[in-house]
Amino acid sequence: MERTMSATKHIALIAHDNMKESLIEWCAEHSQILARHFLCGTGTTAHLINEKTGLPVTPYLSGPLGGDQQIGAKVAEGHIDIIIFFSDPLTAQPHDPDVKALLRIAQVYDIPIANNRATANFIITSPLFSQSYTYTPHIHFPLKNK
Ligand code: PGA
Repeated sequence: MERTMSATKHIALIAHDNMKESLIEWCAEHSQILARHFLCGTGTTAHLINEKTGLPVTPYLSGPLGGDQQIGAKVAEGHIDIIIFFSDPLTAQPHDPDVKALLRIAQVYDIPIANNRATANFIITSPLFSQSYTYTPHIHFPLKNK
């Protein structure tokens, strides 16, 4: 099953509370590049990034209220190309099952997903970031018609 990401990417932005400042800073640092793509994010993250950087970010629900699941559904539907998700490795989250589900579905569909700033920097500086990219997710689908 081949998928093509266009040169203009659909990027989901998510940060847990302790990591929001770091993601906002990262978005500000790369705002000129990010401005050329479609951005969305979980509710609070999306609003804060928009407020602090001026970038348009389509908001989904807040993470603990289902935002991660909404973004996961968009990945499955092929509407999200890249996820930048600054998760907090030191704090328990009430919606941990949703977070795990999002990581899993991103893995299933071979979506680049950055869980920290260094990975996000590698992704955004990749030549593929601003090119169209066709790939076959390296996943074994056991049932042909699924
Ligand atoms: P938030 O959700 O952007 O609404 O805070 C992020 C999360 O905790 O998953």
